[in-house]
Amino acid sequence: MKLPAFMEMYQQLIAAPSISALEDSLNMSNQNVIHLLAQWCETLGFTVEVTELEHAKGKYNLIARRGNGDGGLMLAGHTDTVPFDDSRWQFDPFKLSEQDNKLYGLGSIDMKGFFAFVLNAISELDELQQNAPIMILATADEETTMAGAQEIAKHPSLKPARCIIGEPTDMVPVFTHKGHMTTAIRIVGRSGHSSDPERGLNAIEIMHQV
Ligand SMILES: [Zn+2]
Repeated sequence: MKLPAFMEMYQQLIAAPSISALEDSLNMSNQNVIHLLAQWCETLGFTVEVTELEHAKGKYNLIARRGNGDGGLMLAGHTDTVPFDDSRWQFDPFKLSEQDNKLYGLGSIDMKGFFAFVLNAISELDELQQNAPIMILATADEETTMAGAQEIAKHPSLKPARCIIGEPTDMVPVFTHKGHMTTAIRIVGRSGHSSDPERGLNAIEIMHQV
């Protein structure tokens, strides 16, 4: 198989819906995007590893690698998009549309488009001149639970020397992007009767102090 042209890859990625949402009715598998990437990476001589997430069935991570040895360059991105509000779109979200030298489509910038750029750039490299491994990482569920990244973090042998993450930063390279961390505090109260409130414990009051 020959690698499709840049715009054709871009179009196919946008045409493959992969919405992540916390509401089950909107949540989708990212399998079709992973499938496209796996095929194209193999065409470029990469060894591809696709893994279904343990904690999110129907969602997949992909790691593709070309070249042996330690270090190397990783090109990383997420395969999912946020849901969309149809009434606010002037274009079909699943069709890459060009207007005024700009491309529109759900995930065109954040960030399925990144993979089209990466694959196109790699196709222009001479594999024989490559002296360190190149890895492509494509994760699931970045827009919601980070389930894909959490499972990748446990990978035993993924230690690139450099990593480029294709998140949009207004065309300005950013060294270390913002991350995000969440935690949860659970307060359990004790039910009581209004005749003797001292014997109960109001979780809301304690949460207020927290
Ligand atoms: Zn993103």
